[in-house]
Amino acid sequence: MAKTPTTQSRSDYVEKQLRLLEVETPAIPHMTGVLERDYDQRFEYKPKRTKSPSRIAWHDGKVLHVIRLGKTTNAKIARPTDKVLQTYHFDLRQLALVRSHLDGKSKFSMKQFFDLDEACCLDCPLSNNAGDGNCYTHKVGQYKGFLSMLRSICRNDEVFYGLDDVDRLGIKLMAERADYIRFGTYGEPSLLPIDLVGDIVLSKRDHVKWTGYTHQARKEWAQAYKAFFMASAHSDKDAASITGWRSFVCVDKGDTSTAVQCPASAELSLTTCAKCGLCSGVTGKGRKNIKINMH
Ligand code: SF4
Ligand code: SF4
Repeated sequence: MAKTPTTQSRSDYVEKQLRLLEVETPAIPHMTGVLERDYDQRFEYKPKRTKSPSRIAWHDGKVLHVIRLGKTTNAKIARPTDKVLQTYHFDLRQLALVRSHLDGKSKFSMKQFFDLDEACCLDCPLSNNAGDGNCYTHKVGQYKGFLSMLRSICRNDEVFYGLDDVDRLGIKLMAERADYIRFGTYGEPSLLPIDLVGDIVLSKRDHVKWTGYTHQARKEWAQAYKAFFMASAHSDKDAASITGWRSFVCVDKGDTSTAVQCPASAELSLTTCAKCGLCSGVTGKGRKNIKINMH
């Protein structure tokens, strides 16, 4: 792929990006190195993708996106042998926090990490920044997995600004190898560009199931994502008020919801998301709302 022509110097580029990022002061020395490599890749750049990768990370300002192809140990999601493509969306300050503790000499708490979720979880009612903090990802097992992935990304200097055509192709290659695609394993998946979501889904539409959920379904800007994702809702009444979307409804025990019971729920345990794929928006599989009991 041809390099993008530029007249700006490397230092001008880094300075401008730092202003855009608004990263807190202690993180800036780390981000400077990352941005210098961004510049080198974008403007002094040689094609590097000759085979399908297993992980691609980039940031678009305040959000770090990671797309990873790998296995899962979560039996509700997929079999241990399935290749699962998962998307993660972090606030860039969460990456800065991890990066500034790489030497292991000082520690930070799980709460400190999730308190920085403003850019990646927006105003989600389960987030720490705007809600009650009761997100299902706020568990030690998941948290450790996120930290381990972020540390590895920092050590390998994998984060670049923006998604270039080579990495876009890499994501499509990963999607083609996947047995199942899971959007938003952490963070708000509608922060991904809609055309990228479409490319991922369409890469193997007839063979691969995907799932995705959003708490942004009432927002005007998020409407296109109803094609691929479910609206997260907390009752049938709540779901009915989100027009045009299919909903995934978390209900209390003894509920009277008319939605279809999730077949992988603890009550049924009949299948995995990789096999079921019902939570895939209005263009995916199924037409009804889905429900699962809160535990
Ligand atoms: S449900 Fe998603 S958006 Fe909401 S707090 Fe959890 S990870 Fe963030
Ligand atoms: S309905 Fe299917 S896709 Fe949705 S959570 Fe349950 S098993 Fe997964």
